[in-house]
Amino acid sequence: GSFKQYQLSDEITNALNSLQYKNPTEVQSKVIPLVLERKDLVVKSQTGSGKTAAFGIPICDLIDWKENKPQALILTPTRELAVQVKEDISNIGRFKRIKAAAVYGKQPFAIQKAELKQKTHVVVGTPGRVFDHIERGTLSLERICYLVIDEADEMLKMGFIEQVEAIIKELPRNRVTMLFSATLPDEVKNLSVKYMKTPIDIEI
Ligand code: AMP
Repeated sequence: GSFKQYQLSDEITNALNSLQYKNPTEVQSKVIPLVLERKDLVVKSQTGSGKTAAFGIPICDLIDWKENKPQALILTPTRELAVQVKEDISNIGRFKRIKAAAVYGKQPFAIQKAELKQKTHVVVGTPGRVFDHIERGTLSLERICYLVIDEADEMLKMGFIEQVEAIIKELPRNRVTMLFSATLPDEVKNLSVKYMKTPIDIEI
C-alpha cells in the first residue's frame, strides 16, 4: 500500500515524504482509514510497529488549524514517551504548523501553564500532571475530539488507570477514542467497554 490511498492533505503528505515514510506499516494501514471515519479503536500492538504515526497521521490531518483550544489529548505512561510522541506529532504536523505540548511531572507547572496558554492543537501527557492541569483550570478540554490512551497496559502497571478514568470523565462525549496496548488485561478491556462507542478491535 501507499499513503496516497488515504487522500491526506498536502501538508501531511509532504511531511511524510520529508520523514521518508514511503509506505504505511501494518498498524498504520489498519488504523488510519478507521480514524478518518471517526471510529473508536482498541489496538493490540507493540512499540516499534509505527503506532505513534498510526494515530498521529489521521489526528494531524483532521485537526482544524484555526481552533485555538486543544483538539487532541494523548495520555502516555511516562515522561519519555510523552516527549517522544510530542516530537513525532510535531514532525507529522510541521507543514500544517500544528502545535503540540507535552505535560508531565518533574517539570515546573508554571512552564507548562504558560505553554498551554498559547495556541495548542495537541496535548500529550502523563495522567497525573494532565489531571493537575485540568483541576487548576490550565488545560481546556472543551474542544477535545480525539483521545489516545497509549500503552494502556503500562498505565495499569504503574497504577494510573484511575487517573485515566478521572480524565476521561471530564472530556466531551462527542469524540474519537483510540486505545493502544501490547496486552489486553481485563482492567484495560474495561476502559474500552465503559468509555468507547462500539470500538473496533485490531490486532497486529
Ligand atoms: P513507533 O512504533 O511509533 O515507536 O515507531 C517506530 C519507528 O518507526 C519510529 O522511528 C518511526 O519514525 C518509524 N516509522 C513509523 N512509521 C513509519 C513508516 N510508515 N515508514 C518508515 N518508518 C516509520
